[in-house]
Amino acid sequence: MAVWFLRGIRRGVVTTRYPAEAEPSARLLPTPPAFDPRRLTGALVDALVGACPSGALTRDGAFLVLDIGACSACGRCIAAARGAARQSGRFELAATQRVHLVKRIPIAGDQR
Ligand code: SF4
Repeated sequence: MAVWFLRGIRRGVVTTRYPAEAEPSARLLPTPPAFDPRRLTGALVDALVGACPSGALTRDGAFLVLDIGACSACGRCIAAARGAARQSGRFELAATQRVHLVKRIPIAGDQR
């Protein structure tokens, strides 16, 4: 049994401190996508919105809107993005306001 667990029971501590260092295995976790605006076209964005099972991706005119609070990090958009998206590697996503979880990404691939 973990030492910290036994110590917590003995002292009556029910929470632990936030870790001073990132957990190494966290690198293996799936994370929400990061998009390259220069590679996003309108047609690709429409396909990505259709591929997202949780509704985390929507289109607002010339922007792809990513709601990280709704993203389950399933990776379907990354698989469908043909190199325009990758794992962000970000898993510490807490925000004090819901609006801070919504990212607007310009669709710049049609302008080339
Ligand atoms: S990782 Fe999955 S849930 Fe998140 S935006 Fe992409 S398709 Fe949607």
